[in-house]
Amino acid sequence: MYDAIVIGAGPCGNMAALQLASAGSSVAVLDWRANIGDKLCTGIIGKECADLFPPAPEHIHSKANSATIIAPSGKRYHIERPTTQAYIVNRVAYVNAVAERARQAGADYILNTRVSDIRITDSRAEITAGAGEDKTTYTSRIVIIAAGFGSPLLRMVGLGSKSGGEYLVGCQVEARAPSLTEIEVHLGSDTAQESFAWLVPLSNSHALVGMAPRRRANGQMDAFITRLRTEGSITDIAGKPQTWGIPIRPISRSYAHRVLVAGDAAGLVKPTTGGGIYYAFLSGRIAAEAAHIAITNDKFTPNALRGYERSWKAVFGSELRVGYYARLLFETLNDNQIERLMAEFLSDDILAEYIGDDVAFDWHSRPILRALRHANIRRLLTTLGPAAAPFVARLLQAR
Ligand SMILES: Cc1cc2nc3c(=O)[nH]c(=O)nc-3n(C[C@H](O)[C@H](O)[C@H](O)COP(=O)(O)OP(=O)(O)OC[C@H]3O[C@@H](n4cnc5c(N)ncnc54)[C@H](O)[C@@H]3O)c2cc1C
Repeated sequence: MYDAIVIGAGPCGNMAALQLASAGSSVAVLDWRANIGDKLCTGIIGKECADLFPPAPEHIHSKANSATIIAPSGKRYHIERPTTQAYIVNRVAYVNAVAERARQAGADYILNTRVSDIRITDSRAEITAGAGEDKTTYTSRIVIIAAGFGSPLLRMVGLGSKSGGEYLVGCQVEARAPSLTEIEVHLGSDTAQESFAWLVPLSNSHALVGMAPRRRANGQMDAFITRLRTEGSITDIAGKPQTWGIPIRPISRSYAHRVLVAGDAAGLVKPTTGGGIYYAFLSGRIAAEAAHIAITNDKFTPNALRGYERSWKAVFGSELRVGYYARLLFETLNDNQIERLMAEFLSDDILAEYIGDDVAFDWHSRPILRALRHANIRRLLTTLGPAAAPFVARLLQAR
């Protein structure tokens, strides 16, 4: 029997396994993928994430200290800082490197193995997994579910929601973009209604083209690609766009008897941008700390594990709440309102005065709440109409 089984070898599961194995626990990581970390993602991480969980230099495509945001009208806002704000990494290599460290610390990796059942008894967790008909039951004292977006495993332990929660549909394809030099974010109903689209330079003249609307991006993604081609921003497309969900709200409870849920599986993603790598690492680490305490004390009841949820909420709970209401507010805006908000929000004085620090990339609530205090933005918010009002009120209460 293992002390802990981690389901999922994404950023979250590997980080949890690394921490647990380093603390001396016996741990196994199960994943149905053969290639660790090979999940649809753009691979942008903020400076703070890169400082805490450094990518190897050879896994960094590029460093970003600027971006261009394109308003619905086509007006371009160039934002630039003197220092690096974000890194565009080779996500597969980055995530693999954490798994390799966990392996070296003693974690067992069992790949090509899909978990199909979880049974919790008084004395252990029984995890049934395998490929096809060939199944094995693994046992552990505690299980960390880090199985990513929309995992059906949550229902087996009495967690999650029937509807699968609230999410965005991430859609992305690789393209050639020889002249692209910096990240572009595109807004507007013609591009990605209620959300945003992106163009992110990799190395070797390649780029990732994507969007994250609330619903499937079928026609919109094709139209966006056609527009970028026509404008000459991209040339060839490598294959068909792929889609995968991005949760934007945490599940209502992230622990149960002998179970902790972390990362995307628990809905721990920045609701503003859909970025989840950093919180996956953080929540994987926090889950490992909680599991270690439970293993040491031999106490696995929900009561003994509830400190896990308190801990992640203390670190980024208010980020998730403020980010969620900021997103809902944004979703009520029409193109004209987005245009006006951008003109105010991205004006030089607001950027310098309110968003001008390095933490803005990973911590959105502070710049959002600070900008709300600015007289021009407050005046603008009062003109947004009844649909926006409840979310403005929620944000103002969050101060
Ligand atoms: C299009 C798109 C672009 C994105 N871009 C960014 C970005 O630029 N920056 C950023 O920070 N975030 C981004 N994200 C979000 C980010 O990818 C996720 O938040 C992050 O990967 C979550 O990590 P995780 O470890 O929780 O889950 P995952 O990375 O999803 O890993 C879960 C693992 O569990 C495994 N698994 C699932 N079910 C089972 C099972 N039954 N048995 C065994 N194994 C199982 C899967 O194979 C997978 O390896 C993007 C998402 C999308 C869709």
